[in-house]
Amino acid sequence: MHAVLLARVSSKEQEDGHSLVAQLDRLHAYCLRKNLDIIQEFTLVESSTRGERPEFQKMIAYIKKQSGKVALVCDKVDRLQRSFREVPILEQLRKSDKLALHFVSENQILDSGANNSQIMAYQIFVMMAENYTNCISDNVKRSFEKKIREGTILTCAPIGYLNTTINGVRTAIIDPERGHKVRMLFENYATGNISIRQLADYATEIGLKTRRNKPISPSQMHLILCNPFYYGEMKIKGKLYPHCHDRLITKEIFDLCDKIRSGKYNNVSRKKKKDMLLSGFVHCVHCGKSYSPYLAKGRYVFLKPPKSDTCRHYHVSAAPFMKQINEILPALYFGPSRSGQMIKGLQEKQTKAILKKDRYIATQNETLSKLAIKKSRLTELYLDQGISRDEYDTIINDISKQQQEIRDQMVRTDDRIGTFYANLIKCVKIAEISHFLFKSSNFCLKRLILKLISSNLFLDNKNASLSIRYPFIDMVQKGCRQIWGG
Ligand SMILES: [Zn+2]
Repeated sequence: MHAVLLARVSSKEQEDGHSLVAQLDRLHAYCLRKNLDIIQEFTLVESSTRGERPEFQKMIAYIKKQSGKVALVCDKVDRLQRSFREVPILEQLRKSDKLALHFVSENQILDSGANNSQIMAYQIFVMMAENYTNCISDNVKRSFEKKIREGTILTCAPIGYLNTTINGVRTAIIDPERGHKVRMLFENYATGNISIRQLADYATEIGLKTRRNKPISPSQMHLILCNPFYYGEMKIKGKLYPHCHDRLITKEIFDLCDKIRSGKYNNVSRKKKKDMLLSGFVHCVHCGKSYSPYLAKGRYVFLKPPKSDTCRHYHVSAAPFMKQINEILPALYFGPSRSGQMIKGLQEKQTKAILKKDRYIATQNETLSKLAIKKSRLTELYLDQGISRDEYDTIINDISKQQQEIRDQMVRTDDRIGTFYANLIKCVKIAEISHFLFKSSNFCLKRLILKLISSNLFLDNKNASLSIRYPFIDMVQKGCRQIWGG
């Protein structure tokens, strides 16, 4: 009789060193003993849990093509089948006397004349094979769930992070070269003054590129801004789970960016008229609506009133604003020697603050590792069935929340103290030069200075007023010496 051989190893078994060769050797010896004439061999390396089986289908097609009856020889039932799905097609061939199944190690031959007990034995073996497959798939699911509970990253880390392995455990760390740049993206976008396209340009400017070293496109930027991983959660099949890796930003900033992105945040002046310095800056002090500047007679800038049912708005000249701006800027100029003193004083305070911050971060890290230990103890308790699933979930959620809060605080502190004095120093430097820069003709620069120094320009009926941001307001009103030392 003609014989077709089938040998299979799962991809896992192959890793473990089980070989197809040993299986085939056994089958060849068997065929020799039984006087079977081998016409074809099929060898399969496949995962035991998933996928269609193209090689298997090919083999069935080959057997159907043969003119006479064919012996299909395999080592065991589980080498041939992984589930009952394959039973009907094999049974049909067997019953029509086209196929005889030979299982070498189980010492079974099933042909058209097989009796009930033989068929039952065969089906039991199929059932065992299927059960084994289900177990593996269960194990895969279980380890997946375990990873989710522990908050370990399952996928490729987003830009700003690096996948790595620490003590044999796969994890993600903040990319020392790009992490802070990603943070800058969020902070910039959160100001509400920049579109996603501009943010992509900005990324290129600061040298932030994709993993493949290409510029970040606006659609990729959109994905970055939507990714909860940065503040501490990962999205898996549409659900959010807290992760255990370091955060780049706070949830607060993420939410703010989210609002801006979905247009719920109304501070964005999207339609900027190119040549109008004040566009987007001037608002009614009562209703908050925005005045838009226009050019009258080709040279005078006027402000067009917004429509309103509650307020009376007027067409007014922009000149009073320009006058105020031009008065404030020189008031911020202290001269190089005083500025130098201020900067020195600030730097001393900065050093002290950073030391304090480091101590604070160390304490928080200690608390975090205590909470992590608590979590793993709880998991053990749950696995030993010491507590119910509900209790377990409640407490774990509580701990996760505490962890999230602490991590948020840490990121915030990091930002606040680390950048607070640096920003003040920057402000002193800006104040020092803005007076000169504002006189320059660079339009973007002018707007930038205006934005830095003033949070809002208000109109109360026809009266213009300008609110100045901290710390510039202190610099103008009180001078800096008594506030910042130096
Ligand atoms: Zn109004």
